[in-house]
Amino acid sequence: MNSFALAAVVHFTERVSDLSPVVTPELLQARGRAQEELKERAAATARARFGRSVFVRAVVEVSNYCRENCTYCGMRRDNRTLDRFRANHDALAELLVHHRPASVTDVNIQTGEDPVVVREVVLPLIRTLRRETPLGVSVCLGTLHLATYDELREAGASIYIIKFETADARFYEAMKAPGTLAERLDHIRFLAHSGWSVSSGFIAGLPGETPEQTLKNFELAAALPLAGCSVSPFIPGEATPFSSAATGDVEQTLNCMALLRLLRADWVIPAVSALNLAGPGNGYRRGLGMGANLVTMNLTPSELRGDYLLYKRDRFIMTEERILRAIEDEGLTPSRQSLADYHRKKKVNGAARSKPLADAVSPRG
Ligand code: SF4
Repeated sequence: MNSFALAAVVHFTERVSDLSPVVTPELLQARGRAQEELKERAAATARARFGRSVFVRAVVEVSNYCRENCTYCGMRRDNRTLDRFRANHDALAELLVHHRPASVTDVNIQTGEDPVVVREVVLPLIRTLRRETPLGVSVCLGTLHLATYDELREAGASIYIIKFETADARFYEAMKAPGTLAERLDHIRFLAHSGWSVSSGFIAGLPGETPEQTLKNFELAAALPLAGCSVSPFIPGEATPFSSAATGDVEQTLNCMALLRLLRADWVIPAVSALNLAGPGNGYRRGLGMGANLVTMNLTPSELRGDYLLYKRDRFIMTEERILRAIEDEGLTPSRQSLADYHRKKKVNGAARSKPLADAVSPRG
């Protein structure tokens, strides 16, 4: 392990932080009136910081090739049932430059861990968007070579989404998540220190997860240099070793969202589409009520969506209509400010920047 990785791990393991009374086992399990109170506190915290605005982002899924093999994900490399695709730059550029919904201020470009598509499609697409639109650009591309992060940022992306999935290193390994947890944390810290706004996150209800492990996710999130954090309910993915496992508890996931908001009023916290799989009918809208302030509209061309198999083929696609209705139903309004602009101004207004740590982090190819 390199020196920076060691420092990062020591920092975390020594910091057996006590986040109570913000995050407690009782609050994780809150139901009924206690859960209602939790929701009210989270919503009030979000309103005090962001008003009634929620950021509206579009996502395009540009490749379902993945060199990783996470047990919880349908795009894992061992899944031979998928037709793998890489999207075409020109088609995506036409869609995003000329036909995106008016409410969209940011685009998230998302893929399996596929360095080929990063070079062939993602980098050119970022440059096109930068040149021809005012959109903020987020990317969710996995663990890459350090120089590639710099190239992506120079092209015009400014937000990197890289989840730590679980804060327990052994559990991370058991889940076959990318690399090691220490390496993932190195990359999160490197990205933040080299100028990216970093959003991370974890999965709630992975098969075998203990309540202690769930709580540990909050300690880790609080210790990392994050601009945002998400929590997704575990969804048993088709063609994965967990295909017959139980879905993560939507109530606990919603409580986790509220607790993230209470932990950090300034974080951008998304309502994730998987909430509607864990809580059919109203999971997503309830997430928005738990202090979330980011929604994501799926603009992946419909002929490609079916094979972007994060969970199941019958995905719940967050269309413009569904997104805008959920926002309205919760008494919220779409933000006119982009997410990228929010993060940029927040940095200008106070965040100290540290020098890059490239020489201390092990590269990935
Ligand atoms: S979670 Fe990400 S890295 Fe893991 S298999 Fe799925 S797409 Fe690949």
